[in-house]
Amino acid sequence: MNLTISTATWKYDKDWVYSITYDEALSELHRFVIPVHLELGIPGHLEAVAGHIGKVRALGESSYNGLHHMGPAEMREMIAIGWGVGCHSWSHGMVMDDPDLELRRAKEVLGEATGVPVTLFTAPGSNANLMPPVLEKIVEYGYLAGLGITDDLNYSDADDLVWTNRVPIHESYGGYFESAFEPYKRIRQAQERRGWIVDYCHCPLEEAVHECKDVTAAHHRERLETIAREGGAACWYANPDDVIDYRYMRRHTRVEPDGLGVFILRLESLPQEVKSRDLTFLLQTPATVSVTQALVDGSPVPTIPSRAGVQSFTLPVHDGMKITVKQGMPK
Ligand SMILES: [Zn+2]
Repeated sequence: MNLTISTATWKYDKDWVYSITYDEALSELHRFVIPVHLELGIPGHLEAVAGHIGKVRALGESSYNGLHHMGPAEMREMIAIGWGVGCHSWSHGMVMDDPDLELRRAKEVLGEATGVPVTLFTAPGSNANLMPPVLEKIVEYGYLAGLGITDDLNYSDADDLVWTNRVPIHESYGGYFESAFEPYKRIRQAQERRGWIVDYCHCPLEEAVHECKDVTAAHHRERLETIAREGGAACWYANPDDVIDYRYMRRHTRVEPDGLGVFILRLESLPQEVKSRDLTFLLQTPATVSVTQALVDGSPVPTIPSRAGVQSFTLPVHDGMKITVKQGMPK
């Protein structure tokens, strides 16, 4: 019998992935945003300006001036319920003016404030803060990914794991063409291409603070309810930190056959910053087989039916881990 295992495109062998980020990590998210997340069971992600933790926003001409940046305790509270925190620079200026402060020190200070290593950089202002010199610096400083604002899906077969697209959800978008709020934005594409949507907004309130950068609280709720309804059990509603870790794990894990139904896992050049070492494995189960058993380092692990003819299991991987697969008819 041809026993093989493979790694699933996404964790738990879900079809597509949904995440949402909130730039500036404002306390006012408690008013409308966080309750909707709790109601629907979808985690979010805060993009915090490291030099302004816990301060009233007063940054240049920002539309959000007067609102409040979350402090360490508030961010830790969100992390405890499954949210993540990314670094949105130190000052929200041009990061190459002082990359050591804006990228390296900011990451360190935010890690200390939240108690969790920060591995995701969110470009402030525009994609100008995610151009090649910045991309090189963030990798040098131990970030695993950089989030820009490019209205596109993130594709499951992407070569580049660092550059991450985000989909603006907004009331009205000016520029070459006008556009308006659309609750189904990129969902069908994500389903078809098995992609990852990362939504981008700031702090939805009764009215959008800035119509290009935000939606109203009513539209925000509509977007998340649409995602949950369309995604059902086929979508992985994820903290982006976990998705980025999963992509690195999948890219850097090699499955080496070591005899009939025996496989050794090798972690090759995995960046040490990857926190979650989980991978989902798929076992092809032909119709003639009615019993599938997986042993990891000698101990049985439960497998679950994932799709037709496929069983899966999810667990943290280490270098040299041995997976044994046994299949057959019931005795
Ligand atoms: Zn910002």
